[in-house]
Amino acid sequence: MKAGGLGEPSRALTEWFAANRRELPWRVDAAGSGSVTEGTQGVVREGPSMGNPESADPAPRRDPYGTWISEIMLQQTQVATVMDYYRRWMARFPDVASLARAEESEVLEAWAGLGYYSRARNVLATARQVMADFGGRFPSGRDELLGLKGIGEYTAGAIASLAFNRPEPILDGNIVRVFSRLEGLDFLPDTKEGKRTYWDLARSWAESRDPALVNEGLMELGALVCTPRNPDCARCPLTRFCRAYAMGDQDRFPPARSRKDAVEVAGYAVAAFTGALEDRKVLLYTPKKPERLAGLLTFPVFAVSDLRSLREAWKSALPALAGAAIRPRTGMVTHSITHHRYRLRLVEAIIEEGCLPEDGPMPEGYAWEPAGDLDRILVSSLPRKIWKALAGQ
Ligand code: SF4
Repeated sequence: MKAGGLGEPSRALTEWFAANRRELPWRVDAAGSGSVTEGTQGVVREGPSMGNPESADPAPRRDPYGTWISEIMLQQTQVATVMDYYRRWMARFPDVASLARAEESEVLEAWAGLGYYSRARNVLATARQVMADFGGRFPSGRDELLGLKGIGEYTAGAIASLAFNRPEPILDGNIVRVFSRLEGLDFLPDTKEGKRTYWDLARSWAESRDPALVNEGLMELGALVCTPRNPDCARCPLTRFCRAYAMGDQDRFPPARSRKDAVEVAGYAVAAFTGALEDRKVLLYTPKKPERLAGLLTFPVFAVSDLRSLREAWKSALPALAGAAIRPRTGMVTHSITHHRYRLRLVEAIIEEGCLPEDGPMPEGYAWEPAGDLDRILVSSLPRKIWKALAGQ
C-alpha cells in the first residue's frame, strides 16, 4: 500500500470503526459526556478552556488522564478485566490532581490484582510530575510525554493521538499483525530495519485527516476482526487493500517467532493452602525484576526438574513454611508469555494451622489471599490457568 496520505484506506477504516467500535468507559469525550465518534477535522483544535495556554497544547478531544490510565492498565491485561478496574479507579482518583495527592499505599490498593505494581508506582510519580511541571495539564507533545515516568513510545503515541488527535504513530501487537497482513510483511519489528518499516507505516496511517480515529480503528480492527487466528476478512473494511487477503494466505502473516528464540521454562507451580475449607487462604507471589514474571501476581513458580529439587527450593525461598506437605496434583499448564514458554506441573502445599507464621513477616513479594478472592484478583492468563486447572480437580 502506498505510504503517506492513505486517504481511501483510512476513510474505510474510520467509517468501519465509527459503526463497529465497542463502547468502553475510557472512550468518552473530554467532558466525559459521551462517545468520541467523530474526528476534529484538521488534526488538532485549539480551545481556550481546555488547552494549556503556556505550551499552546490543543484542547483534548478525549480526557488525556483517562486515556493514559486505561492504556497503562491495558498493558498485559484484558479489556474485560480493565473495565471494572478503570471505573473504580476513576471514581477514586477522578483526575490527575486527586491521584497526585494520594498516598502510595492507596494507589497500590486500588491497583491490587492488576499485577506489575511498578506501573502503579509510575502512575503516581507521573501524576506528581504533571502537577509540578505542567500545572496539572497533560502535555500533548510526544517528546514531553516521553519525559514522563513509565511512558514509552506506545503510550506517548496513544495519549498524543487518541486524546489530542495529534498525528502521532502507535504500534502494538494488534497493529503489527494488521500491517503485516496488509503489506504482506514476512518479518516482525524486532530488528532495527523491521522496526523502522513498521513505525514508518504507523506514521503514514497517523498522518491522516483524523489520527485518533485511525489509530484507534487499527487497534480495534486487530482486536475484533484481524485476529491472530482465523481473521474475519468478510467483515474487514480493508480487504481490497490487503496483500495477505489477495494471496489467500492470511495465516502466513505475521510470521511466528522463531522457535529458537523461545525459552522453555519447565518446573512447578505451587498452590499453597492454609486454613479451614470455608476460609482457605492461598499463597501468592509477585516476582520482582530481574526474576521471570516480574510484577505479575501469580502462584509461586519454581523452575526445577523434580519434586526433590522443588522441596529444596521451597525451603530455601520460604523457610518458615518448610514443614508444608508438598503433594503433586495431576495435570500440567502450558502457557507462552513473550518469548517464554511455560510447562508447569501442579503441586499442592498444605500448611497446617499452627505452622503458619500468622504474624511474622513473609518474605518480600509473598502474601496470603482468601481463596474466594482469586477469581477477582488473578488477572493474568498464566495464574488464571493454574487456578482453573486446580479447581477442576
Ligand atoms: S482482509 Fe483479512 S487479513 Fe487483511 S487486514 Fe482485513 S482481516 Fe486482516
